[in-house]
Amino acid sequence: MALNFSDYNCEFCGKPATNVLFAAFVCGDKECIDKARDVRGGPGGHMARKAAGKSIVPEDIIREEQIIAGSDPADPKND
Ligand SMILES: [Zn+2]
Repeated sequence: MALNFSDYNCEFCGKPATNVLFAAFVCGDKECIDKARDVRGGPGGHMARKAAGKSIVPEDIIREEQIIAGSDPADPKND
């Protein structure tokens, strides 16, 4: 890859960039990544989560799926 990040600074805090996310140069700070996402209006933020070392599946989505799966009032097994 020809892109040399040390030639670029984070667009939000001015520190040396380590990532290009949402079409913006950013450092590794979650705050800056979040800003890049907000500025871009980009998708669900999974890249920010990945960059922060977290699962790319947000916990609230996992929880929501578990609630749906665990509380179906029309469960035919209860007939
Ligand atoms: Zn930054």
